[in-house]
Amino acid sequence: MQSSRDVYTVPDLDQWPAITVGLQPPPRLAVIGDPVEHSLSPPMQNAALQSARIDAQYVRVHVKPDELPQAIQRFKELGFLGVNVTIPHKTAVVPFVDELEPMAKRIGAVNTLLFEDRRVFGFNSDAPGLRQALRDEFSVDLGDLRILLLGAGGGAGRAAAIQCASDHCERLVLVNRTPEKAEALARELAPEFQDSKLSGPVDRIAAVPWEENALAEELNYIDLIINATNLGMKRTDPEVLSAPLIQPHHLVYDMVYRPPKTRLLQAAEEQGARGVNGLSMLLWQGIESFEYWFARRPSVPSMRKALREAAAAFT
Ligand code: NAP
Repeated sequence: MQSSRDVYTVPDLDQWPAITVGLQPPPRLAVIGDPVEHSLSPPMQNAALQSARIDAQYVRVHVKPDELPQAIQRFKELGFLGVNVTIPHKTAVVPFVDELEPMAKRIGAVNTLLFEDRRVFGFNSDAPGLRQALRDEFSVDLGDLRILLLGAGGGAGRAAAIQCASDHCERLVLVNRTPEKAEALARELAPEFQDSKLSGPVDRIAAVPWEENALAEELNYIDLIINATNLGMKRTDPEVLSAPLIQPHHLVYDMVYRPPKTRLLQAAEEQGARGVNGLSMLLWQGIESFEYWFARRPSVPSMRKALREAAAAFT
């Protein structure tokens, strides 16, 4: 593969044939975001494309918020097959989609676009990506778990909560810095927790304040802790949970994967709990996206290997 530039821009899309002349395979897939230069999706998706012998490559395109409509239009005109959408465009892109898959519609956010027959199809592969990542890492199904979700008010938190509810998890406790968002989501999801599953002395769905005592009580009735906040990416970030709150039986899934061992994962380890970072979610959302584009399974080992190598190179 002839390697493309690290990052393209929206003005580049206006002169695409000239800019990408001779580039083999031709760029026909992209990740768009602001910023986008650190995205690990290109090496992962290019490994899948190469392995499947598909004559296309996947590139990064830096798209600022005011450039989004123009970018989508250009991708359509240029015959792109699809695009992954990352921060901050996952919600903003929804009005440009002609057909929204039900899960994406429910979440209100799209991270995968498919361009087909002059139409734009929108999907959310973050939610099923999380489900697959948990199967992969812990050999568990969401439906069997009592889950505490930190960061329930954010985009990834909302996607995770909706996937947990759709999979009929045993119990879901929503926590968010801005508590009103978690409370609103708990009200929205409550009807899905009214079946006959039993949870013992506690509510099956609840929003609880981000306070040590409240969390300590809830965590007695929890199997899986998910961090869907931004906390953990920077060394100076406050801790997500203090170590003594984590119990040895807890599974801890941190959506953050940079650094690979976040403070939360370090705390889990100290307490004898199993914890993993969000790299597997990135992998499985990428696998789901590939399936939306090509209606076939990519080579998971190739993608996993490329992703691990790319992540290691970044740390
Ligand atoms: P987002 O929509 O901006 O949401 C951020 C969330 O973090 C909100 O719940 C926010 O609470 C909370 N938060 C931010 N700063 C906080 C602080 N100082 N203290 C407590 N809570 C804080 O972002 P997102 O798209 O959901 O992404 C969230 C995280 O998930 C990011 O780290 C992202 O990299 C990760 N992610 C990983 C994958 C993967 O494949 N592994 C996929 C998607 C996202 P408020 O509501 O109070 O603002």
